[in-house]
Amino acid sequence: MDFELSPEQQTVRDTFARFCDEKIAPQAEAIDEAHEFPWELFRALGELGFFGMRYPEEDGGSGMDLNSFCLALTEVARGSMSLAGAVAMQSLMGTKFLHMLGDDDIRERLFEPALLGQKIGSICMTEPNAGSDLGSIATTAVKVDGGYLINGQKMWVTSAPVADFFTVFAKVGEDKETGEEGGLTIFLVEKDFEGLAVGRAIEKMGVRALPTSELALDDCFVPETHCLSAVGDGVKHLRKLLAEIRIITGAMAVGGGRGALNEAVAYAAERKQFGKPINRFQAIQLKLADMATDLEAAEQLVHYAAWLKQNDLPCHKQSAMAKLFASEAAAKACDQAARVLASYGFAMEYPVQRHLRDIRFTLIGGGTSEILKLIIAKELSK
Ligand SMILES: Cc1cc2nc3c(=O)[nH]c(=O)nc-3n(C[C@H](O)[C@H](O)[C@H](O)COP(=O)(O)OP(=O)(O)OC[C@H]3O[C@@H](n4cnc5c(N)ncnc54)[C@H](O)[C@@H]3O)c2cc1C
Repeated sequence: MDFELSPEQQTVRDTFARFCDEKIAPQAEAIDEAHEFPWELFRALGELGFFGMRYPEEDGGSGMDLNSFCLALTEVARGSMSLAGAVAMQSLMGTKFLHMLGDDDIRERLFEPALLGQKIGSICMTEPNAGSDLGSIATTAVKVDGGYLINGQKMWVTSAPVADFFTVFAKVGEDKETGEEGGLTIFLVEKDFEGLAVGRAIEKMGVRALPTSELALDDCFVPETHCLSAVGDGVKHLRKLLAEIRIITGAMAVGGGRGALNEAVAYAAERKQFGKPINRFQAIQLKLADMATDLEAAEQLVHYAAWLKQNDLPCHKQSAMAKLFASEAAAKACDQAARVLASYGFAMEYPVQRHLRDIRFTLIGGGTSEILKLIIAKELSK
């Protein structure tokens, strides 16, 4: 058993920790207030090679392991969960299917520039009536001459207002000519395709600098080349990504929790009541100790699951556990941090309220806690 970071992993953590302290943290409040996509920091991370970390060198990435990526993402999330959400989308869910399934033209025109942050990608699964239950996706794709016509409505599409391309899950019905059965299929829609409309940005309580919108597809024609998966293979391909999505969401949660813990530790050392700093009171010490212990355990679980995934070992259960434990521990840590600051934890001028609002994102994305528990329970009874 080896818990030591490799020299490369140590460098990754130090690089992004410094980037967080010097660049992200000083701007985090402002970007949250602006409710706008954090272009400057996003591009800077693109220049640092963030979006290519998980892709092979021969395809323009740097081929880093999943543990390194988690270390980097935790540091970004410690500074700003909005930015972490944007870069996680760009590094994995928003680009992965183009890399896995796109042809040379798609990879050259869209995927490669996306690794540099020059094009923005998104993923569109959720619909008004299809959240946890992707089987109830109602968006349809109908085969026509040279391609497909897509109709439907998507919800909660991260980065939609700034996206250049959208990976859309749609159902291809029974083929009238061949009688072949259809199913969930993955399509690529580019932003200037006729029939695509990015709707209103949803007003959110947290990750306010991560724009999230509805999307309408109205007889949107996509050419054959943009039907990325074989008909009905959407879920099969999505399954290959689920563990990684959960693990990196856990890594983001650890970062958000740490951001709040650090604020609480600093405040408790400064704030004096009854003639002494409040960190001399056991009630406060116990809170800080619990938060730190839970976040440490969460990080270990995330890295264990990442290591399993990296080594192609079964990790369905562990990735669900890592995401479940990390997001719940981090949400609790943010709540506890607000209690340490008391009235100042309630004040908009202190960052703890932002961590408390933002952390809820990690309780939802990648599967809710309830769904993750169902997955774990199912694995236990196998
Ligand atoms: C900030 C943000 C960004 C997002 N970005 C994207 C994106 O880019 N692309 C995208 O496709 N989606 C995105 N989503 C959507 C997200 O993936 C869904 O919100 C999530 O899958 C949950 O779906 P839902 O909100 O419809 O909840 P529902 O599925 O309706 O669940 C409601 C409640 O019922 C519970 N529940 C549901 N089914 C069961 C069950 N079988 N047993 C027990 N409990 C159950 C849930 O746990 C939850 O508590 C985003 C969401 C947010 C908040």
